[in-house]
Amino acid sequence: MRPNTMKALEKSKPEEGLWMVQAPVPEIGADEVLIRINKTGICGTDIHIWNWDEWAAATVPVPMITGHEFAGEIVEIGRNVTGLEIGQRCSGEGHLITTDSRQSRAGKFHLDPGTRGIGVNEQGAFAQYLKLPAFNVVPLPDDVPDEIGAILDPLGNAVHTALSFDLLGEDVLITGAGPIGIMAAAVVRHAGARHVVITDINPDRLKLAEHVVPTVRTVDVSSEELQDVITELGMKEGFDVGLEMSGSQIALDQMVEALVMGGKIALLGIPPGKSPVDWSRIVFKAITIKGVYGREMFETWYKMIAMLQNGLDVSRVITHQMKVDDFADGFAAMKSGRSGKVVLDWT
Ligand code: ZN
Repeated sequence: MRPNTMKALEKSKPEEGLWMVQAPVPEIGADEVLIRINKTGICGTDIHIWNWDEWAAATVPVPMITGHEFAGEIVEIGRNVTGLEIGQRCSGEGHLITTDSRQSRAGKFHLDPGTRGIGVNEQGAFAQYLKLPAFNVVPLPDDVPDEIGAILDPLGNAVHTALSFDLLGEDVLITGAGPIGIMAAAVVRHAGARHVVITDINPDRLKLAEHVVPTVRTVDVSSEELQDVITELGMKEGFDVGLEMSGSQIALDQMVEALVMGGKIALLGIPPGKSPVDWSRIVFKAITIKGVYGREMFETWYKMIAMLQNGLDVSRVITHQMKVDDFADGFAAMKSGRSGKVVLDWT
């Protein structure tokens, strides 16, 4: 019943592209489970790996099965594993942690400096089977379908970033309308913010933002001034909370400018290198800045599944679903900059 080999999408050689290969089905250890993959999401990280840019070449050993956004079903259980069953639908945290660091021992697993990522440092989820520590498994309730299960990793980034600060009754600015920025807008709206404004310079992404979150105010900052939007919405002094999702220095500058005194910023976007920051402006505005990495284990997962069950709807951020054999089309859609999330079907 357990096959010996499986289809897998692999970085087989240190050059541009990914290749569909036959790979051995992983053997699990005593504390691990084997998951049959149903659906996977393509992440920006996977695009870096496809393109084999400087970061990927320095980080990812080859051969490597890529991918870390997945939903599937448990088909094998290690002998030490309790509380999980064969047939359980699940997603899971793709960050594999150590348990002996200061932060892990404090229960802050997402801050473990020894973290390794599936699909980056360890064999990943773009395959028919994935082995994962049972600790990392997140069971999926029946009302969360596989395509949503396959995007919980990036939704978790959005939720972790969005819930960094109080949102109830606040005015929130999101810079960067990629899929995570758009999902963050949905979360912020769900969490009771007053005005939710999202900026980008890509009209397709802003259109998608409006499609996913009809009540969001989109701003194309190449043609519209944020200050005018602040006036239009009747905000007296500016935004209370900023979520930076673009990695753009210009966007961060605009955000600092548009915040109230004592405003708060959560940073998820990664600037391409060192970038100049006007620190005096940040000091004089008494702004709090928090860097966000990954998802809190497992508070973010708990919250996002609870919100999905309580009406949070991000389904329209998935713009493309296709059979995995058409993966090249999926990557092309991602690279066009005009897609939302792309989900590959492995069944
Ligand atoms: Zn991802």
